[in-house]
Amino acid sequence: VAKGEGTGIELYDAARDPNSPARLGTVSALREGIEQGQLELHYQPKVSLRDGTVVGVEALVRWQHPERGIVPPDEFIPLAERTGLVHQITAHVLREGLGQARLWWDLGLQVPIAVNVSMRDLHETDLAGLVVAELDRHGLPPDAIVLEVTESVLVLDAGRAVATLRELRELGVSASLDDFGTGYSSLLLLEQLPVDEVKIDRSFVRRLDEEGGDPAMVRSIVDFAHGLGLSVVAEGLETSHAWRLLREFGCDVAQGYRISRPMPSDQATQWLVERVV
Ligand code: C2E
Ligand code: CA
Ligand code: CA
Ligand code: CA
Repeated sequence: VAKGEGTGIELYDAARDPNSPARLGTVSALREGIEQGQLELHYQPKVSLRDGTVVGVEALVRWQHPERGIVPPDEFIPLAERTGLVHQITAHVLREGLGQARLWWDLGLQVPIAVNVSMRDLHETDLAGLVVAELDRHGLPPDAIVLEVTESVLVLDAGRAVATLRELRELGVSASLDDFGTGYSSLLLLEQLPVDEVKIDRSFVRRLDEEGGDPAMVRSIVDFAHGLGLSVVAEGLETSHAWRLLREFGCDVAQGYRISRPMPSDQATQWLVERVV
């Protein structure tokens, strides 16, 4: 159920109705898609704003649907989170992403892979065990992976998630708080979660390019995060103008179309070969 804009009227949304035939269709199609290997990863580089070196690569999932073509994650991740299917997706992305990392490490391209995980993964599964098992399977060290934690529902008690992230940190796996500044991914969560990095949401970064847009918010987030000893990533960097401002603010890392769009694996490999020594 969604609110009609400005009307105060609740709109019916089949995707949210657990008894809707449309939703059941989508859920079973997604489950089938996962089982049949229709999920694919694209990779987007994370680059140092100081010297332009590649500091990581984020794995972003796409659904290669037999009839609909490429379905972007925003169209199925929320559903997967509500139904718990996200755990299967996370398991798949961890395996596939670390498999890709292994290939890159064999080529001498030792860049960490960033994998998106939801708070539900941290609460409901043994994510630490899963991550360790996948690192072992591929013979990779703990710093070959970074977990980007996204929040889609309000979590008042982050207890289990905190314990999982602590366990991972002790093993040498670091974490990042994604979409910082939006929705529930806020101060409350940052205060509780042991993360090493925050990613400033694209909605703030975009404002750097707007006529008369005030960069004070981005500057403040950078200072604030640095005050907590965290590294700061700006996502959605699209222009040289934004690049210059972010550098001036002391932001550490950037990601965005200005640097590269997310790429399928062969293209990503080529991109890395040309830039990583
Ligand atoms: P996110 O983690 O915040 O990822 C950043 C999104 O911004 C990606 O969209 C990326 O393609 C897009 N992006 C990057 N640079 C730019 C830019 O310069 N301009 C613009 N306009 N967009 C840019 P994408 O790939 O569609 O993913 C959307 C969201 O889906 C992700 O947001 C993440 O929350 C979720 N997601 C993606 N893959 C996974 C996954 O494997 N597991 C989970 N749980 N969620 C995932
Ligand atoms: Ca992310
Ligand atoms: Ca984001
Ligand atoms: Ca997101």
